[in-house]
Order: sequence, then C-alpha cells, then structure tokens
Amino acid sequence: MTAVTLSDIQAARSRITGKIAQTPTEPSPSLTARLGMPVHLKLECRQASGAFKLRGASNAVALLASEERARGVVTASTGNHGRALALAAQREGIRAVVCMSRLVPSNKVEAIRQLGAEVRIVGKSQDDAQEEVDRLAAEEGLVPVPPFDHPAVIAGQGTLGLEIVEAVPDVATVLVPLSGGGLAAGIAAAVKGLRPTARIVGVSMARGAAMKASLDAGRPVRVEELPTLADSLGGGIGLENRLTFLMCRDLLDEVALLSEDEIAAGIRHAYEEEREVVEGAGAVGIAALLAGKAASGGPVVAVVSGRNIAMDLHRSIVCGAWRERQAEEEPAA
Ligand SMILES: *Cc1c(COP(=O)(O)O)cnc(C)c1O
Repeated sequence: MTAVTLSDIQAARSRITGKIAQTPTEPSPSLTARLGMPVHLKLECRQASGAFKLRGASNAVALLASEERARGVVTASTGNHGRALALAAQREGIRAVVCMSRLVPSNKVEAIRQLGAEVRIVGKSQDDAQEEVDRLAAEEGLVPVPPFDHPAVIAGQGTLGLEIVEAVPDVATVLVPLSGGGLAAGIAAAVKGLRPTARIVGVSMARGAAMKASLDAGRPVRVEELPTLADSLGGGIGLENRLTFLMCRDLLDEVALLSEDEIAAGIRHAYEEEREVVEGAGAVGIAALLAGKAASGGPVVAVVSGRNIAMDLHRSIVCGAWRERQAEEEPAA
C-alpha cells in the first residue's frame, strides 16, 4: 500500500504552518490525579473551524495544481470536514461546493454558506449527495476532497502528532477519536515515526463503530448507523477504502468502545474540570480514561478533537437533563 509516512507529514506541516493554529497540549491535573500517571490534553477543540479537520483540508487545498485551483473543490460532508474545506478554500480564494441531501438541517446548511461555500441540495440521502460530488467532478472538473481516505488529508491530520511529541517527548499512550481513521492514521504515523514504542489507542462509540467492525472482520464492512452523542464519529469507512483501513490495521494498538453514558461523562468532565466546551467525538479520549477503558502506561495524551456541539444539547448534558431523558426513552433492562 502507499501509506502516508513521517516525511509526508513533515512536508504537510511546512505547507500549512500559518494556516492553522498550533493548539496547546496542557496537563490535566484532575485526570492525572485520578489515573495516577501524567495525563495531557491536546486541545484541538481550539482549532479554527472548531475541529482538527482544517489541517487535512488546508494541506489538500495547498497541494492543488494551479488549474485545479481554478476549478475548485467539492465534498459531500456537512459536518466538520465540510466546514473546514469551506474555510480552507475561502482563505485561498478558491471555489468550494458542498453537496448535501434535503434532510440536512437548515442551521448546518447556513453554517456552511456563511463560510463562503456554495451549497447544492440534492436527493434524500448522503449517497445521493455523494453522487452529485462525482457528477460535478466528472462534468465540471471540481476536485473532490474526501473527509479521510486521501493521502493529503491524512498527512495534514498527522501534523497534530508532531505537535504531541514535541510537547510530551516521552509520551507512552495517545488516545485518538476514531471514525474513518484519517486522524488516527495520521497521528499514528507521526507519533510512531518519532517514538516507535508509543501506543496508539483509537476510541469510538459502541453504537456503529465502522472501523472497529472492519478491523475485526479483516476488511472494510458496513455497519448500521445509529444516533450517538459522538455524531462526528458516525458514518462508514467506505467499502472501497484505500488507505485508512490498512494504516489503522497496521498502526493502532487497540480500539476502545464507549457507551453513550460514558461519552456524556467525558463531555461533562471536559466542561467542569477542564473548562472546555467539547463535542461528543472530541470527548471520547477523556471518556475512555474516566471509564478505565484505555489503561496502560503514561504519560498519556488524549486528543480533544473538536467543539462543534449544539449548545442546547451541551447544556442538557452538563445539567443532567440529558440522562433523565435517555432513561425515559431507554428504560434499563
Ligand atoms: C472527523 C472527526 C473525528 C474522526 O476523524 P476520522 O479521521 O474520520 O477518524 C473525530 N473528532 C471530530 C471532532 C471530527 O470532526
């Protein structure tokens, strides 16, 4: 396979320095006391656009040839990747088109438009939106920038791993939120390239963890998508996955899975103890530590990957109303 290497990631870094924030890696006194070993948080929730995806999107945009820049970029992501690509393109004065289905809520549509992207509303599903991406690529020459399975995107996300090792040179365990695996693959390649003994633990929600199911099956498989607090971790890895499946298979030491209650506890801890507003996907590393599901050695760095959560949901989690509502909807067996 053509895996992304440490030198690809170092090259990505020199390309995107100045276009992204170098986010802080801060010790967590409360988690350090609780676990009895040093725990640090990589606060990527403070990245511009509210999530790490600006790294990969900025690297992909920076690598466009001049005739590709003239044509523009396209994606079907309405979440953090769509936002990041819109922002990266806007900053470079490049056209960005985000295709989405009619089911996408209007606040998300508006958020993408405000970042300067054109919105194409097509069909009733994510598959319909992806077909429109393929059509625009074929007929209008727009360059598709997918959310994870792309070498420039993986290398961009990997720059986060370089910053982790610089901040905590003796890091022993890195906890990484895991969905399509671009973040985990990039961080693992960077961290293991510099520090081969470090362990990389992917963390997903138990409800619909596509990469975990694929790793268990030995090939990319489809899983049923279920609502989860870690909504940025939803979705499949693609049955035609080219890069992230093999990189995660070869580079991840373990994958931990979390219940919705455990993810909620991570969001609450981030707010009350660390004073950070964090989305579900961003809280899974903290949640895994709190749940005792990512044991092994310190120093530990947990990647806090994003903060784009609806504030009414955040409020209900922090005040406990969310738990009561869940209990009513899903009476304990
Ligand atoms: C996309 C995303 C992830 C997962 O990244 P993958 O590269 O798909 O594994 C984790 N956290 C946040 C906040 C995200 O937006």
